[in-house]
Amino acid sequence: MTEHTKTDGLPGMDAPELPQVLERARPRNERMNVAKVECNACPVLCQISEGRAGACDRYANHAGVLVRLDPVVLLRKTLEAGEATLVPFVGRVAAGEAQEGVETEPVAAPSPWSGDLLLSEEVFVTGVGSSTTYPDYKPAPFIVGSQTDGVDMVTVVTEGIFSYCSFKVKIDTDRFLGSEQANVRCKGEVVGHVTTAEYGSQMLSLGGVHHLTGGTKKEGRVTAEMMQLLGNKQAVEFTIDGGAQLVIQAGRAPIVNGVAEQRMRVGCGSAAIGIFARQFYSHADEVVVVDDHITGVLTEHQAGRCLDMKPSGIQMRGRKSTPGRYFQVANPGTGWGGTDIADPLSIIEGWGEAVAWPGLRLLMTSTTGEHASWYVLDESLVPVEAAMPAEIRSIVDRIGENCEPSLASVLFLGGAGGSLRAGVTENPVLLTRSIKNALVNVTCGGAPAYVWPGGGITVMADVLRMPDNSFGTVPTPAIVAPIEFSMRRADYEALGGHTSQIRSLRDVLERGAWHNDGAPQARVWQTLPAANPWPLGRPPLLG
Ligand code: SF4
Repeated sequence: MTEHTKTDGLPGMDAPELPQVLERARPRNERMNVAKVECNACPVLCQISEGRAGACDRYANHAGVLVRLDPVVLLRKTLEAGEATLVPFVGRVAAGEAQEGVETEPVAAPSPWSGDLLLSEEVFVTGVGSSTTYPDYKPAPFIVGSQTDGVDMVTVVTEGIFSYCSFKVKIDTDRFLGSEQANVRCKGEVVGHVTTAEYGSQMLSLGGVHHLTGGTKKEGRVTAEMMQLLGNKQAVEFTIDGGAQLVIQAGRAPIVNGVAEQRMRVGCGSAAIGIFARQFYSHADEVVVVDDHITGVLTEHQAGRCLDMKPSGIQMRGRKSTPGRYFQVANPGTGWGGTDIADPLSIIEGWGEAVAWPGLRLLMTSTTGEHASWYVLDESLVPVEAAMPAEIRSIVDRIGENCEPSLASVLFLGGAGGSLRAGVTENPVLLTRSIKNALVNVTCGGAPAYVWPGGGITVMADVLRMPDNSFGTVPTPAIVAPIEFSMRRADYEALGGHTSQIRSLRDVLERGAWHNDGAPQARVWQTLPAANPWPLGRPPLLG
């Protein structure tokens, strides 16, 4: 009988033994100043002098040692009040003591993690500040073994370098921002475009490989800067060709042409008629909800007919879609209901003399209730503005109350394929397959990342759920963003992971990354945002 081992049939078993890679390559140029260190965290390969930082400001030469300047962000479910949040790693080489090939012991133990095993289930190492190698010819800087509910878990943590990435921005507004496909500019450079409008919102696609690397150097630089700011929850100013000027900041009201947007519309004009028809009944003889998309007319609308309302004889401009629903009553704009009109009466062509009557009560409102006027027809069937009755005012107020606050939402969308996967496994396609088989959770800075269907690992995350300052840039140009892959240890072994690089959570918390070249020097505690699920022990958000 054949003796089985527990690794029978696992991929990678027959793979040849791979050579160890050097932490740092030999200098490319023998005449390179020995006082400089070469950063190999991205293809720019900066030669950094003592005490200086590299081009991206993320790595520096500290006494001949290349260091990652920001601390690694670690998430905890709870944080004690007054607890020290920034703690240096003890495993880093002391200044001036680095010698190639020499294992160094910790030089001090300023404040090691308490080692409290109860806490170990509460700690998640994020990619923010974790350092990276690009392309990933080395294992990821942190491959962390931990336990969740008694199950051995592994989290592979890195800062990915993304050339193929963009931000999808949702701007809650009725106002016309620009035509579909119009260029979006930042500092005069084209950095994206207007994409499809969604219900109550206008979508923009910003960044992307075409603008990062496909245009001029300046276009790439401005695009990268813009993406870094937007991802780091800062405000960025844009102009849209033939459209509006915008200030966008994640989680804040968008500012359109200098005015902060307040309300997201309750629905289109037709929807608003349907929602509020019964409340209008008996208080108004006609209601027109002005909207750039569909303008609704109560008495003609199915809602009015079901209430058995008397026709008002109103004659609307625009293209009649279905009863009580009109397209194109005006051009898009920043006036009433996202149209270009300031006077709502301009969309009324006239009144059927045999149908309308003097004294007819007409409400005209926008889909947000921000604009509303009350009219009564005079003897000549001309609408005359009048004071709005209290009952009507309260319905208009209710329309406003039903509008959600207008926000700008910024979602990072990145293709985490290519070499990034080699930092996880010798056989990268197995990582992709394991994710698609719901065995590996993908997070960005601990925030849930939605994995798009189809090939590769294309993920999308809300920047507001990510730690502050999660994004950086490198001058290639590309975006640096955190990414973590979490799975059971057995699944990590099965996908051919770098199992010899798995280190215990305690070791990671005390000593930092596995390498000394370009490693972060400290860790910083942050609490997991309340909206985020705990990243470990859950399947990915698969599309
Ligand atoms: S740009 Fe930054 S990551 Fe790239 S080589 Fe220079 S210091 Fe290193």
